[in-house]
Amino acid sequence: MRRAFVGLLLALLVVGAAPRKKRAHARPTPGTAADLVFKHGAVYTVDAARRWAEAVAVVNGRIVFVGRDADASRWIGPKTRVVELAGRMLLPAFHDSHVHPIDGGIDSLEVDLHGLATPAEVLARVRDYAAAHPDAAWVRGSGWELPTFPNANPTRELLDEVVPDRPVFLWAMDGHSAWVNSKALAIAGVTKDTPDPPHGRIERNASGEPSGALREDASELVTRHLPKRTAKDYSAGLVAALRIANGFGLTSLQEARASEESLAAYAAADAKGTLTARIFASILCDTEKGVADVPRLVELRRRYRGRRLRADGVKIFADGVLETRTAAVLQPYLGFGDDRGKLNLEPDAYKALAVALDAQGFQIHVHAIGDRAIRETLDALEAARTANGARDARHHIAHLELIDPADVPRFRTLGVVANFQPFWANGDEYIRKLTEPELGPERSRWLYSIRSVHDSGAAIAFGSDWDVSSVNPLDGIEVAITHREPSAGPGPAWLPEERIGLPEAIAGYTIGGAYLDFTERETGSIEAGKAADLIVLDRNLFAIPPDRIHEAKVLWTLLEGREVYRAEGFSEGR
Ligand SMILES: [Zn+2]
Repeated sequence: MRRAFVGLLLALLVVGAAPRKKRAHARPTPGTAADLVFKHGAVYTVDAARRWAEAVAVVNGRIVFVGRDADASRWIGPKTRVVELAGRMLLPAFHDSHVHPIDGGIDSLEVDLHGLATPAEVLARVRDYAAAHPDAAWVRGSGWELPTFPNANPTRELLDEVVPDRPVFLWAMDGHSAWVNSKALAIAGVTKDTPDPPHGRIERNASGEPSGALREDASELVTRHLPKRTAKDYSAGLVAALRIANGFGLTSLQEARASEESLAAYAAADAKGTLTARIFASILCDTEKGVADVPRLVELRRRYRGRRLRADGVKIFADGVLETRTAAVLQPYLGFGDDRGKLNLEPDAYKALAVALDAQGFQIHVHAIGDRAIRETLDALEAARTANGARDARHHIAHLELIDPADVPRFRTLGVVANFQPFWANGDEYIRKLTEPELGPERSRWLYSIRSVHDSGAAIAFGSDWDVSSVNPLDGIEVAITHREPSAGPGPAWLPEERIGLPEAIAGYTIGGAYLDFTERETGSIEAGKAADLIVLDRNLFAIPPDRIHEAKVLWTLLEGREVYRAEGFSEGR
């Protein structure tokens, strides 16, 4: 029964794939002209040999030729569009293997305070947004940084000056503080007499009045009054997300936390033909319910399936984050007694859930950050394999911030894909000031051990975790190589032994992601027979210093041979 199901699933996956061809010798059919030919390019194919080429020809959205300029001419007919690359780089379009597109899209439509350095800039942004959106009942946004304000404590009076008539709610970049104006506090009924909630703090001024900043759970006093997101909000967020993602060369997204609302938005776009990325969705599992939640997940998978949408994954949160000591670690955090964080599932319940999901043919996608959560996850996936037999499941663990060295080889032996967010391995203040002191030097050596996992022979995929961090794959690629913040310039690398090279970093965002999504026969490399999911970059990444990679720009993004993004000023050169 299970085998029959898996067989059916695989049959569905390969529908639409081209008939297998002898890749190296794809011959032109006499008289066939290509729709599109790229010439004089630095074409990095990411094929099995990591071969380079100069020219690529596309017919009907599919790559039919990859090779030398001299051999490309026979594909050029009177109606062929010839793209003169003039040495610019052609790559397979990028995959993001862990991303929250709709959240990122919605953020981008609200007040976006990321990267603003002074209170004046922040307030100007809020004022401009409010003026441009007179009908918004609430002014909502995110991205202000704690150090921008004295004692990380911005006041409601600052916001009252720019938006006196409507409530304002603004998340700090880390999501652990919120900043509101007087109107929002009034709507929420938060006054001098409101006590702090058990896991939160209402910041107060000298006279005991709420001053405008809300820490942790205190923000819920206001968020519960925010208007609920509508289907229209989700769809608008998706439209914005696709525009942004396509602009960074992304055409395949592994949605890391799908709700029914987000699945409905993807399905609606897919039905309209406006879904300009392949979406592989991991549906969020209710871990409190555990095995009892599986029938609901099966039903959602059945209901939301389309040309570019599949919901064949299930997302499990195994633990929290290291910075707040909610990640589950094997040895106690230093200086906090015997606190070892918290696992969201008891080991036995976790194993039972993994066995049940695996038996239903789901791909299991786990958020696990601490070494204890990672070990328990590997144990649960091993239990699934033992109970159901080994199959081509491609279960994966995302984030993987602290892997115990004893567990490194288990990714390969269990066939579990390591899904890293390489941008985080940048040695920033979160790592140096929060993470390293609570782990100590010995354990900190095993933070973001991408090189060790890679060298163990495991399959690897890369993702951004946007809207948490930058969605630009070039940022992630750079940090994987440099272990420095992209804006930091040259200097010593943090934990240099875990860096990888450019070929491995590109593979993580292309063929590695395709493997994770079960689409490696269709996309992820530039080979005859595959879909023309392609990007043009303004420079060859192999010809520039690694700390300049984030400056490279995507000029053109194609999905199945059709333009989904074109940079201003880019022309085909003919
Ligand atoms: Zn995430």
